[in-house]
Amino acid sequence: MEPKLTSPSVVREVLASLGIRPLKRLGQNFLVDFNLRERIVAGLELAPGERVVEIGPGLGAITQGLLERGGDVHAIEIDHALAAHLRSFFGTGLQVHEGDALEMDLGALLGRSGKLVGNLPYYISTPLIAAVLEARPSVAVLMVQSEVAERLKAPPGSSERGALTLLREYAADVEPWARAGPSQFYPPPQVSSQVVRLHMRPSTLDLPWAVIRPVVAVAFRFRRKTLLRALREGLGLGPGDAERALRAAGIDPQRRGETLSLEEFGQLAASLGERGEVAGADGAGDAPI
Ligand code: SAM
Repeated sequence: MEPKLTSPSVVREVLASLGIRPLKRLGQNFLVDFNLRERIVAGLELAPGERVVEIGPGLGAITQGLLERGGDVHAIEIDHALAAHLRSFFGTGLQVHEGDALEMDLGALLGRSGKLVGNLPYYISTPLIAAVLEARPSVAVLMVQSEVAERLKAPPGSSERGALTLLREYAADVEPWARAGPSQFYPPPQVSSQVVRLHMRPSTLDLPWAVIRPVVAVAFRFRRKTLLRALREGLGLGPGDAERALRAAGIDPQRRGETLSLEEFGQLAASLGERGEVAGADGAGDAPI
């Protein structure tokens, strides 16, 4: 029988045998709780042979559960030593893609109806979630720091709303799935975590992702500023153009991004789109989330 990769002693032994010290800069906090691992895997409702993409498999704690259920697992790991360990531990039953998940074509790996899972490295959880929402797995089960989970769930009017809240509202419903404390990881992180389940669904807005994303990104990049200033600085619009676009969308130019609903962002994106302002703005499409 394979050693259980959620056992704290096995995790320490495997790390020692590989000569690996967990790297903080890569967010390496390994899951050492079998029940939590089972809860995460159960959230995917995997059928044998079903495609599942895992971001950041690490030593393979979650991967092992996915393979036990007969998943067709594609795992993306940036750390060379961990990728080598995964290949030798699981053999040909696992497809290991070595590299940065932010640079991979998640949509291609998911195929038509793949699912996605990850105990995400904290330092890039926000851009990774944005990439997941864009790639549209049928279901995603993600472990993230509690602050990010709260942002994903933040209701209208909450000061915790951010670009990620709007992009999530655009693409998916979110379901709280589990909570995790530092002792459930090795080494323990300094923050608490939550597992969320994202159920992708058609957007309520009749606008493509490529149009809504840059507008949301710009509004929250300058979240302490009014939308008038944010559009001027983020999209390089003249004061008259920014004000006209906001007024045409029925939005007071003095409001801030966090007060807008997804529908209002949709009206703003459409108004900017009609004026050709989003497509024409340098780098707006790649603005960080
Ligand atoms: N899934 C394992 C677990 O639950 O024990 C490990 C989770 S650990 C929080 C995050 C993992 O993501 C580490 O294995 C780390 O090396 C990997 N990682 C960090 N940055 C990455 C990136 N940009 N692309 C892919 N994997 C990354």
